Amino acid sequence: MQHCDILVVGAGPAGSTAALEAAKNGSRVFLIDKRRILGEPVQCAEFVPKLLLNEVDISRKCIVQDVKTMKTYLQNGECTETYSPGYMLNRKIFDRELAMNAAEKGVDLRVNTLCVSKLGNKVAINEGGKKELIVPKVIIGADGSRSTVGQWINSNNSDFITALQYSVPLVSSMDFTEIYFDKRFYGGYGWLFPKGKFANVGAGVKLGVKSELNTSLSLIVKRFVTFLEKNEKVENTFLSKTGGLIPVSGPLNSIKDNILLVGDAAGQTNAITGGGIPQAIICGKIAGQIAGKAIQVGDISVLEEYKYEWQTIFWNELNRSKLRRQFLESNWGQLDKIVKKCWTAFREYYEE
Ligand SMILES: Cc1cc2nc3c(=O)[nH]c(=O)nc-3n(C[C@H](O)[C@H](O)[C@H](O)COP(=O)(O)OP(=O)(O)OC[C@H]3O[C@@H](n4cnc5c(N)ncnc54)[C@H](O)[C@@H]3O)c2cc1C
Repeated sequence: MQHCDILVVGAGPAGSTAALEAAKNGSRVFLIDKRRILGEPVQCAEFVPKLLLNEVDISRKCIVQDVKTMKTYLQNGECTETYSPGYMLNRKIFDRELAMNAAEKGVDLRVNTLCVSKLGNKVAINEGGKKELIVPKVIIGADGSRSTVGQWINSNNSDFITALQYSVPLVSSMDFTEIYFDKRFYGGYGWLFPKGKFANVGAGVKLGVKSELNTSLSLIVKRFVTFLEKNEKVENTFLSKTGGLIPVSGPLNSIKDNILLVGDAAGQTNAITGGGIPQAIICGKIAGQIAGKAIQVGDISVLEEYKYEWQTIFWNELNRSKLRRQFLESNWGQLDKIVKKCWTAFREYYEE
């Protein structure tokens, strides 16, 4: 049995950032992740807004290219271009750098280590087949959309977008992202995000909601690639495939007793765009700092500050995205009429 001040479960952007911050004031921090190789497989379209780099210390190696604008295509062919400065990341490198930064600050990082269960104050982990018990003073659940830690406090995402993405060659380089709305992408959208000579092309949809959506997601995305090929944007050659679940039920209760949830585990993902890296990093920072403070002053009730701090920054934005998603799904039949109220590129999205 081992003791630590703070156990962080999940070494994605949220967990690694939380662990790094928590270790800064001298807390003994364990950071565990079930993956053998951090950052793999990549389950992300890899776009982040430029401002995020003010929040996180990463090397240029994490960035594949700059993005200037976003083009949003509607079903009727209308295209709107908006200023949307950002970066396309190499998430493999990004996730690994964040975890290594934490390890360099003294965090005890363990990969291939599954967080299994909790009994009383003991957390059972399985490190490459070896079972162990950890007794932490604080637990930070940063274990993604299907959080195990969230189950311990009855706080779990209940609604998801299923996303599938292929990496394909680009016909010519692009310094903009493209978003496509189409009835076939039920409850979501299609994307074409450039990555140098290649592109991430994918779609996120609500599966199993509408009976007309009996075409498999893989077929939907393959047809989308064919459409983009006809428009001379990409080549119809599939280099790799990835996907995952994006939580869209909105922000969850993120604290109980000595447990904090952060990132996708806390439903801090935007329910309309599906973007969650900025929230994972910023809320991870707050969670780590407050957990570190609680250890330093020896008072677990300090953890309550976490909820207020992250909600002050993100509540309005996340709540708006949740309401817009409800509106989008219940009016999908009139997509053309309502889409501007449901996408961040349009003024109508921000109107009450
Ligand atoms: C297809 C797709 C495209 C996306 N595109 C974008 C995008 O372009 N931009 C953007 O901002 N966001 C995007 N997102 C969302 C973004 O990927 C997430 O919001 C972000 O990764 C959340 O970070 P996190 O640290 O909370 O969780 P994660 O990155 O999911 O990390 C959780 C970690 O916990 C580990 N873990 C889980 N369970 C356990 C356990 N029991 N024990 C130990 N370890 C565990 C996992 O192995 C994982 O490493 C996309 C998501 C998907 C699925």
